[in-house]
Amino acid sequence: MSDPDRIGIGETIALSSQRFLSSSLNLKFMNLANLRDLYQQVILEHYKKPRHKGKTNPVDRYQKGHNPSCGDTIELTLKLNDVGDRIEEVKFEGEGCAIAIASADLMADALRGKSMTEALEMVQRFQNMMKGEGEFPKEQRKLNVMQGVSQFPVRIKCANLTWHTLKAAIESSSDSQGSGCISNEVDS
Ligand code: ZN
Repeated sequence: MSDPDRIGIGETIALSSQRFLSSSLNLKFMNLANLRDLYQQVILEHYKKPRHKGKTNPVDRYQKGHNPSCGDTIELTLKLNDVGDRIEEVKFEGEGCAIAIASADLMADALRGKSMTEALEMVQRFQNMMKGEGEFPKEQRKLNVMQGVSQFPVRIKCANLTWHTLKAAIESSSDSQGSGCISNEVDS
């Protein structure tokens, strides 16, 4: 006879703990949502009006990257200084979601004048940021608008694609231009 009652109490406890959970989640999401609105605007701006679309002249490095989980494709071209140890310009072509394109545009912007070593450090920093670990220092803080993406595991690969492709472009020797297409799914 006490069975239905026990179920009743159980349900009440389940319900109230659910309510508690969802209200604390709402609070968390509210802060996230504010940030997201702000970042989303910047991301959409770079997606709609990318400033670094095209091909560099000359093309000192070329690398194509693909993110199968979303269908993003990025073709990066790099113009280096005479010695070949510093990036003068980065351009990209490709098709992808807003996150992938905005990430490429922001990256291209941030890389101008950077040494190869600095660029590789930035790859590492960006990938860490996507894991929720750390962010970029003040002079590169524009890249931190992508930080919110780390909350959306499905989108992390979209944001990482361009950096992943850059790493391959830097690590490839200059004479291996056009050497196939790297995929995001291989490592990381
Ligand atoms: Zn994507």
